[in-house]
Amino acid sequence: MNTRALLSVGVAALAACSVWAQEAGYPIEIVKPGTGSPAYPPGYQTPWDRVQIMVTSKMSPNLFVLHGSEGLDPAHPDASGGRVMVLFGPDGVLMVDTENRQVAEKTLQAIRAFTSAPIKAVVNTHIHGDHTGANAFFGKQGALIFAQDNLRIEMVRPPQRAGGPPAAAPDMAGVPVVTYNYDAAAPGESAVTLNMNGEIVDFIPMMPSHTAGDTIVRFRKANVIYIEDFYRNFGYPFADQANGGSIRGMLEAVDLIERLADAKTTLVPGHGTLVKKQDLLPYRAMLVDMLAKVKALRDQGKSLKDVLAANLTAPYDKATLGDTQQSKDRFVTEVYDEVKDFPPVVDGKRAMPAHP
Ligand SMILES: [Zn+2]
Repeated sequence: MNTRALLSVGVAALAACSVWAQEAGYPIEIVKPGTGSPAYPPGYQTPWDRVQIMVTSKMSPNLFVLHGSEGLDPAHPDASGGRVMVLFGPDGVLMVDTENRQVAEKTLQAIRAFTSAPIKAVVNTHIHGDHTGANAFFGKQGALIFAQDNLRIEMVRPPQRAGGPPAAAPDMAGVPVVTYNYDAAAPGESAVTLNMNGEIVDFIPMMPSHTAGDTIVRFRKANVIYIEDFYRNFGYPFADQANGGSIRGMLEAVDLIERLADAKTTLVPGHGTLVKKQDLLPYRAMLVDMLAKVKALRDQGKSLKDVLAANLTAPYDKATLGDTQQSKDRFVTEVYDEVKDFPPVVDGKRAMPAHP
């Protein structure tokens, strides 16, 4: 569909509806993520000029999902970058996440193909560059940026990573302005609710899971939840422990979704395919199984090297798309670190041990 056709469909839909109640026929998937080709030559650099940002699905007449093209970005071979959700209409644009810095202009162009409304607000689901990279760009477009306070701290004072160079000072235009915290006494409670463009949008802070600054975003009328990266179905799970993440927290996050979503709720992960809540259960079972198996070996005094060599993910490799050695070793190392002497979250970060 060309831009003009997209625009006229959007305008017709806007005119026809005053209430956005879970419209029949949604979600519409336009472009599914690829299967990815994980083999890139050494020294390969993402050709950002070739990465396209497109509308890959529509969740309602005025709630679209953007994602990058496949086969170019080694960090995400199935579809470059992290998904962006765009709610638009007379009240302006709300974006969930901002994609990589290198594709900021293209992300804006993709949005301008269906709305000329001002960019009013951004909410960040977690700190990673494929989700916050273009924050400063969209901040300068006028967006007020929302996030957990921990995300702001992670951005302003990044964790020290073993052997890595000190992080560059952030562009303050991209640092969240409105912050809130996760309340362990009330998981699933919305910290911020926006009433915009006929939708009711909840920013729900999460327990330390993918990072210590995660937020999921619920669109009540469309019956959609952006569940960011504590769940993934391309590559093995990733808990960014240095930024406060936790495998056990990811289990809690799955359990929270079981409670917040109904059978029809469309769950939008940051990567991989769109899912329903029952799709999270095998993932949960794998986390439980791996925690138990790695703990048993660690209790026997096995080293990380021994545990990696035990190839504990073997039963899951077949069903895990994008199961590179790097992805499984990272996952097993996280589990190994988590089952014993796991450092607490301090200012959004954990002082993780270095592994030679
Ligand atoms: Zn991501």
